[in-house]
Amino acid sequence: MAKRDFGRRRVLVTGGAGFLGSHLIDRLLDRGDEVLCVDNLFTGDKRNIDHLAGNPRFEFMRHDVCLPLFVEVDEIFNLACPASPVHYQHDPVQTTKTSVHGAINMLGLAKRLKAPIFQASTSEVYGDPSVHPQTEAYWGNVNPIGIRSCYDEGKRCAETLFFDYHRQHGLDVKVARIFNTYGPRMHAGDGRVVSNFIVQALLGEDITIYGDGSQTRSFCYVDDLVAGFLSFMEAGSDVHGPINLGNPNEFTIRELAEKTLSKISGKSKLVYQPLPQDDPTQRRPDISVARSTLGWEPKVELDEGLDRTIAYFRSALES
Ligand code: NAD
Ligand code: UDP
Repeated sequence: MAKRDFGRRRVLVTGGAGFLGSHLIDRLLDRGDEVLCVDNLFTGDKRNIDHLAGNPRFEFMRHDVCLPLFVEVDEIFNLACPASPVHYQHDPVQTTKTSVHGAINMLGLAKRLKAPIFQASTSEVYGDPSVHPQTEAYWGNVNPIGIRSCYDEGKRCAETLFFDYHRQHGLDVKVARIFNTYGPRMHAGDGRVVSNFIVQALLGEDITIYGDGSQTRSFCYVDDLVAGFLSFMEAGSDVHGPINLGNPNEFTIRELAEKTLSKISGKSKLVYQPLPQDDPTQRRPDISVARSTLGWEPKVELDEGLDRTIAYFRSALES
């Protein structure tokens, strides 16, 4: 791809005021890029990017990706979309619009600029998987009309658009299927399991396990994930994915609850609540493609990542 002649890359990150986007922006700025962060602040928080306010290579634009965007950049990371079930089910029509119209608008921008474009897709494209662990070749088991469908099918349609723009217009697309990721700057109140359990334990509240806690997830620490994003974008213009990015170590939700409790001594107890509709029973990425194509694999074990995340929430709750 042709770089701008002053040698420094100008990178657009949509959803940049969110959890993953703000960490990605930190890494891009660290390596010397200019960053344009576009976010409508639906679930994002300006506090995630406050520390960048004086940086002359950083710019924030409040904008909804459902509307066209006319800017000049060299690379695009499309992360804009609410990600937690509580948030994406809050306004499901808007969630699908964000995934689909957002993809169309960002792909149109990439086409005009001839810029590579990365899509934050998700393990949710596999639905409640009948293949375990999930490889990229698996087409998934997704309910098209359930309460998770606005997100799952929105992201699946976005993948379709990315690959059609690639085939039809020769766009250099990079589609990553992200598995559950955690770390500092997660929302305390977005209902995701790691943040919920840590905040509940720190506040001495009961730890809410949905169902019997035997469902599994595989948790990736945010720094590892962002390293995967950067490796993917740096991969050659013949690498398009989809590529699973996640940590293949699998835990039951009950194990996660017990681990969190053991790290935060307090008076919390485990309590069991109904399992939400269409909650996947198992999830673990097969990351052979990421290993062989990108030379990437996660390094941070759950114990270490949880310690760092607990430290973040402890200080966030204190302040
Ligand atoms: P997040 O909610 O913290 O961040 C999403 C950001 O997108 C927020 O800042 C939000 O304000 C912004 N946004 C939402 N709708 C928008 C719109 N219409 N226009 C502009 N901005 C908009 O979530 P996250 O965990 O940082 O997730 C980032 C991306 O990664 C999402 O696309 C999500 O689907 C994907 N993903 C995340 C995970 C995970 O475990 N965190 C897993 C799979 C996929
Ligand atoms: N979960 C839970 N208690 C909580 C929040 C979530 O038991 O307080 C469960 C949820 O039902 C799911 C798993 O933890 O089985 C992961 O949920 P999360 O919302 O973090 O992500 P996703 O379901 O999208 O993987």
